[in-house]
Amino acid sequence: MPELPEIEVIKNIIYPYLKGNNINYSIIRNRKLKYLIPQEIISISNEKIINIKRRGRYIIFILKNNSIIIHLGMTGNLLIIQNNKKIKTYDHIDLVINNHIILRYSDIRKFGFWIWYNSKHYKNSIFIKKLGPEPLTNTFNSLYLYRITQKKKIPIKVLLMMNEIVVGIGNIYSSESLFISKILPYRKANTLTFIEISILVKNIKYILYKSIKNGGTSIYNYIDPYGRKGNYSKFLFVYKRNNKLCKICKTKILKMIHRNRSTFFCSVCQI
Ligand SMILES: [Zn+2]
Repeated sequence: MPELPEIEVIKNIIYPYLKGNNINYSIIRNRKLKYLIPQEIISISNEKIINIKRRGRYIIFILKNNSIIIHLGMTGNLLIIQNNKKIKTYDHIDLVINNHIILRYSDIRKFGFWIWYNSKHYKNSIFIKKLGPEPLTNTFNSLYLYRITQKKKIPIKVLLMMNEIVVGIGNIYSSESLFISKILPYRKANTLTFIEISILVKNIKYILYKSIKNGGTSIYNYIDPYGRKGNYSKFLFVYKRNNKLCKICKTKILKMIHRNRSTFFCSVCQI
């Protein structure tokens, strides 16, 4: 599943193609994503895209009076199509833009969704309203996270992946930031000291920035809107590296299944 860096990379690439331009019309080849594609998106005509935002893992198109809220689910991709390109089975949506480009949405597993929100104030929608702070803003700081972890006995990795606490961090970036911070993923949140939390917060920001700079991580099918893979995979220390040697101490990286999610860690480097 794409996490914050991948969504940020996508948003940054599509931004100059879409901002201030009109959606002439849409072509919907399959309405059945996670939620049925709404009628307003099917019949969209001559709608100006005023702005493009990212919040958590959502991409939002702000129109004159409405907004479109997009979630890529597990395998969704947004592509900039500049020449005629053959349609594939999983190309569900085309937005035909007035500058001769097409924004194409493809999604193999169809867990992504497109929502029509009847206001340009998208922050009030039920999808956005409940979200916690953005990890790359000052609202997400050591004191904020420490106050929360003090009251929680759940594993720190599970907590980092909760969108109501902090948005956009999934399995990849929680595993990696915990490794760099030398903290075991299954440590109970309330056992972390303030110093450990401060290091963790700093490393989360560092890793997210570094991944954005490198175009995100392509472990599964993530590609950017130009069809390119992200380069951050080569920087991974633990994620999907089970049975490979730790880049720091040369012992084997371990994998543990917890609540149906795999967790990757080094039992020597992390305590
Ligand atoms: Zn190690």
